[in-house]
Amino acid sequence: TPVLTVRGLRKRYGDQVALDGVDLDVDAGEVVAVIGPSGSGKSTLVRCVHQLEPIDDGAMYLDGELLGHRRTGARLRVLPEKAVAAQRRRMGMVFQQFNLFGHRTVRQNVVDPPVLVHGTPRAEATARAEELLATMGLSDHAGKYPRQLSGGQQQRVAIARAMATRPRIMLFDEPTSALDPELVDEVLRVVRDLAAAGTTMLLVTHEMAFARDVADRVVFMAAGRVVETGPPAELFTDP
Ligand code: ADP
Ligand code: ADP
Repeated sequence: TPVLTVRGLRKRYGDQVALDGVDLDVDAGEVVAVIGPSGSGKSTLVRCVHQLEPIDDGAMYLDGELLGHRRTGARLRVLPEKAVAAQRRRMGMVFQQFNLFGHRTVRQNVVDPPVLVHGTPRAEATARAEELLATMGLSDHAGKYPRQLSGGQQQRVAIARAMATRPRIMLFDEPTSALDPELVDEVLRVVRDLAAAGTTMLLVTHEMAFARDVADRVVFMAAGRVVETGPPAELFTDP
């Protein structure tokens, strides 16, 4: 069973079609990069997978379990909010903007989700946080507040925070697009390390070279559809 399955996903904003029947699988340990022009539906796709947006049609499965909105005949059945919240907890999401809690330290930002949301013992969550912060080169900043860090450091904290709950899949929505150019590489390096460690991920990016290097598979979207998918070597032809 793939970790994530998307079938016939459709999403409109008013008259604007954002997703026009998307099919996608992400297998365990696989890194799938989603690329394509602005407005092609990449962000909408990951937001729908994370159940931040209601969908209009189709079905999504996490480890074979139906997510969020279920198709019954021609109608969609919406799962109870509690069930959706439980499903969302099994995914880690990283946004363009870092979405950290400004009044919590770096360490607290990483310790809080497992403790408060999953009921993980604090000692265990703290050990995990220290380990994640160390691998991301953030140990020296653990006691600081987000505003004391650079954008690249904050985004690395956000990645550590999302990883803290040991998600089944990591979802990234253009994680470097809000960063100054000189800070992009330090964030990509962390994502690359997670990929090398076998983290399952669905990654929206406009960093083509990065997608080519790191992805097992690239999904090219245009106008709300997957127009091509394959290993990077097939999708990118060398100049
Ligand atoms: P991408 O991530 O590839 O740039 P998006 O998923 O952000 O594309 O957008 C897909 C389409 O949906 C675009 O036409 C965009 O204008 C539209 N769209 C996205 N979000 C909204 C929204 N909240 N309200 C209205 N239209 C939206
Ligand atoms: P709070 O006091 O808000 O409950 P937590 O107990 O959630 O803070 O903090 C999470 C972990 O981080 C705990 O192990 C705590 O001891 C540690 N910690 C919190 N703030 C700091 C800090 N400024 N410097 C070092 N360790 C901290």
